[in-house]
Amino acid sequence: MEQLTLRHTRRVYAKVDLDAIVSNMKAMKALLPEQTGMLGVVKADAYGHGAVPVARAIEPYVSGFAAATAEEAVQLRKAGLKGLILVLGVTFPEDFEDLIRWDIRPAVFEWEQAEALSRLALLCHKVLHIHLEVDTGMSRIGMKPGEEALELVKRVSCLKGIRIEGIFTHFSRADEKDLSCTEEQLNAFEAFDRQLREQEIRIPLRHCSNSAAIVGGLSSNQLELCRAGIALYGIYPSGEVRKDLAALTPALELISCVSCLRDIGPGTAVSYGGTFVADRPMRIATIPVGYGDGYPRSLSGKGAVLIHGQRAPILGRICMDQFMVDVSYIPDVRNFDEAVLLGFQGGEHISVEEIAEASGGFHYEILCGLNKRIPRVYIREGKAVEIRDYFDEN
Ligand SMILES: *Cc1c(COP(=O)(O)O)cnc(C)c1O
Repeated sequence: MEQLTLRHTRRVYAKVDLDAIVSNMKAMKALLPEQTGMLGVVKADAYGHGAVPVARAIEPYVSGFAAATAEEAVQLRKAGLKGLILVLGVTFPEDFEDLIRWDIRPAVFEWEQAEALSRLALLCHKVLHIHLEVDTGMSRIGMKPGEEALELVKRVSCLKGIRIEGIFTHFSRADEKDLSCTEEQLNAFEAFDRQLREQEIRIPLRHCSNSAAIVGGLSSNQLELCRAGIALYGIYPSGEVRKDLAALTPALELISCVSCLRDIGPGTAVSYGGTFVADRPMRIATIPVGYGDGYPRSLSGKGAVLIHGQRAPILGRICMDQFMVDVSYIPDVRNFDEAVLLGFQGGEHISVEEIAEASGGFHYEILCGLNKRIPRVYIREGKAVEIRDYFDEN
């Protein structure tokens, strides 16, 4: 594996520790009652970590998975993943056949969707399980609880070919210190569910909790399912959520190297636009990564990388494929020396939160943004067990 990896990993790779992901899953499960199941949220290629390897790693611990789109859901099934798979976003009519063929649950909240799904399922002589989405505060998708929604659910529950298996809502502010909005959302959800039960509509799987609610130990964790996204990857949803209940370990590190070294004199400009000009003799290193990999251009002149366990500040603009750092104070730097863009080296650490802060971005977005040009190397018990290089996949 070591020999094999070099061709893929010399320039840059994302090192994904599957043991960390499993341990984050266990830390969250420890906060849930025995009977509460978990959906691993692996949308957006598992927040940049790689949906299939992540899903396989957590499969023994979860009831199923949540994807954002039908394509993502089908990818999981094609990879052989069992268990419940839910599409959190809108599924378009073009993909309804795939839902039935691959046994994937859509989020449903409009009559037209339910009716069309029912018709198609009957045509295929199949029964499709669906989850109803309730909008309690996101104003994104889902039915607003109330009389109209009650009528809608009643009508949907009578449709042949589909079975209402789940009902869920999504919290918009569970990552904040003040949880009053989240409590209101949960109250609205539970009130709606009670109204349904009064009408003899008992939906077996109810779920509201995202990572913030799970790691915060909120009462929505008592329902039948929870949906864990960002915390699975070892990242707290925000600076305001409780960190004392679940100990999380970041699973992804971004590792590159020094590709070129040079000494520059005072007055020398660095990178496009000459936004950085040396005011003294400097030694600078080129790093062969750029915004073409999803490394944020907004880190220009702001971020840093780790070389020999020390911080090397970014000089001037990040290019599409390269950028330069200051190594004047780091002795004996050579070509191909490791440069850590995200993660640990020596006693130093660059977190995704730090990158988000420095770039004016958002930590979830930084991870999702790491794109297909970066190979992923999967680690188990400290050893590389699998490589995914998108350039080898056609
Ligand atoms: C993305 C998403 C989640 C997971 O959110 P995290 O904050 O990453 O845990 C859960 N539910 C829905 C509906 C989502 O869209």
